[in-house]
Amino acid sequence: MMRGAFLFLSRQPALRRWMEAWPPSHKVTRRFVAGDTLEEALAVCARLQGERVFSTLDHLGENVRTIEEAAASCDAYVSALEQIAARGLSSTIAIKLTQFGLDLSAQACLENVRRLEAKAKTAGSRVEIDMESSAYTERTLALAIQAGSECGCVRVCVQAYLHRSAGDIERLNVAAVPVRLVKGAYREPPSVAFPRKQDVDANYVALMKNLLDHGVYPAIATHDEKLIQEAIEYVQGRGIRQDSFEFQMLYGIRRDLQRRLIEQGYRLRLYIPYGTDWYPYFMRRLAERPANLWFVLKNLLK
Ligand SMILES: Cc1cc2nc3c(=O)[nH]c(=O)nc-3n(C[C@H](O)[C@H](O)[C@H](O)COP(=O)(O)OP(=O)(O)OC[C@H]3O[C@@H](n4cnc5c(N)ncnc54)[C@H](O)[C@@H]3O)c2cc1C
Repeated sequence: MMRGAFLFLSRQPALRRWMEAWPPSHKVTRRFVAGDTLEEALAVCARLQGERVFSTLDHLGENVRTIEEAAASCDAYVSALEQIAARGLSSTIAIKLTQFGLDLSAQACLENVRRLEAKAKTAGSRVEIDMESSAYTERTLALAIQAGSECGCVRVCVQAYLHRSAGDIERLNVAAVPVRLVKGAYREPPSVAFPRKQDVDANYVALMKNLLDHGVYPAIATHDEKLIQEAIEYVQGRGIRQDSFEFQMLYGIRRDLQRRLIEQGYRLRLYIPYGTDWYPYFMRRLAERPANLWFVLKNLLK
């Protein structure tokens, strides 16, 4: 109920404009968003690298309205990749295809992604393609498979809550495209996604095992302690090497668990969002855990 309310609010443009312009909002977004600028986000990546944690940079923004806006998003990521290379960071970039014009022109979007791939390749980095709502799933996968076959430096996200995901994982394994496995963060109807948490979790475990056995350098992206423990027991039981996959988590969430994985020698990459366009991302984090609302109110009153 609360989850649905936050996801509904995340799509209200008037509230979004008001929140993004509201000066005290910084006080509450800082837990989940690294900063307004690339420089602030890079400082976080450098600090994390000192703690043996990898990162992926997300320049916040989605659903651009013009080809020019899409090109500007692409420019922002080109700058990020140049700085990743210049500073010797083990960072990748995380992009949303609607930020690159997927709603406007599939071809223009592909050209933008190609531009980033070329930069990522020379920087020794990777382009991680986020998965948005189910309206974009097929187009996102098709583009990821095409882009992945051209450069070999693409990873794409798959959501365990979608009924279709087992088939998608098979396709991606055959195409040798690395996958980031998540539960899924959007509001979807039962015809498309499992409505019950236990079914999503069961599907997550099945897909995770498939990826660990047959995938290319998969990313197990979750803060769910039970699922992480299942992954650890599975890799230990089958002798799967610690450097053949990575865990991923979001910046600011379950820092205790993050530290524990690093101490146990596992690879961990944190998703680092930055920029002024933080509203939909922030609302999805509240939707996942309505208890975060208390954290928000507490910080506003400080
Ligand atoms: C690296 C990364 C990339 C992602 N990329 C995408 C993407 O491209 N597309 C997409 O749809 N989704 C994406 N997600 C979000 C994902 O789909 C889930 O919504 C999110 O990870 C919460 O699910 P969970 O697996 O942590 O499990 P849950 O069952 O939701 O949570 C397990 C535990 O984690 C902690 N937790 C989870 N969320 C929060 C929170 N917001 N605040 C505080 N604690 C929390 C709580 O302790 C909770 O009990 C991504 C997640 C990660 C980690």
